[in-house]
Amino acid sequence: MDDWFTIDEVDKGTYIISEYRHWEESHCYLLNGSEYSLLIDTGLGICNIYDQVEKLTDKPVIAIATHIHWDHIGGHKFFPNFYAHKNELNWLSGEFPLTIEQIRDMVVDRCDLPAGFDVKNYEFFQGKPTKVLQNNEIINIGGRFVQIVHTPGHSPGHMCFWEKENGYLFTGDLVYKDTLFAYFPSTDPEAYLSSLEQVSMLPVKRVFPAHHTLNIQPEILVRMRDAFRQLKVNGNLHHGSGAFEFGDWAVWL
Ligand SMILES: [Zn+2]
Ligand SMILES: [Zn+2]
Repeated sequence: MDDWFTIDEVDKGTYIISEYRHWEESHCYLLNGSEYSLLIDTGLGICNIYDQVEKLTDKPVIAIATHIHWDHIGGHKFFPNFYAHKNELNWLSGEFPLTIEQIRDMVVDRCDLPAGFDVKNYEFFQGKPTKVLQNNEIINIGGRFVQIVHTPGHSPGHMCFWEKENGYLFTGDLVYKDTLFAYFPSTDPEAYLSSLEQVSMLPVKRVFPAHHTLNIQPEILVRMRDAFRQLKVNGNLHHGSGAFEFGDWAVWL
């Protein structure tokens, strides 16, 4: 399992932990402060992310998912100190809208699985967060401040994380290149637009998405916002209107 995770260094205290052997190409981010480390998303849960994190920090770790989907909370079981948004607490306590069989199908879909992995043992994480988050709260990890930006649309409690001092925006599944998903019943296309309106106002220097290429520039925030505005003008910003392509990204409504 040594080649499951790929680690990239952004700066002296910020790392990207990627899982390229699954088609989703997921990225988690580790931010080291002087008192705590913050792990943004904990991955697919196919291999043990704790072993990777341990190599990159000696501080106690707080885990925080951008949202409660299987591919963002896979490693939560290793981090008892985790925070979650109030709008998705029910998904951590038995009310997630998919069955474990549906989730297991997604785990193995187009994945170069490691030897010895048995999807029958894969579980969807359930638990009670140590802190419930609301919009605009700031997490202080010691010399670094990370602001919660509640960005519903892809999911009701989706959060982007904004580190103003560095101009870093961690966008989760709200913004990445490739197809954005806003068609399941728990998504909200109108809220998606409002969230893009919010994040496109920030003076972002670097965008860090949860999936696919890391070659993504802040200008995409404005382009996506404008495309969503146009979808609304054209009467297409609702469930069931289909898939729309915009060159280096797309959205499925
Ligand atoms: Zn998601
Ligand atoms: Zn995702």
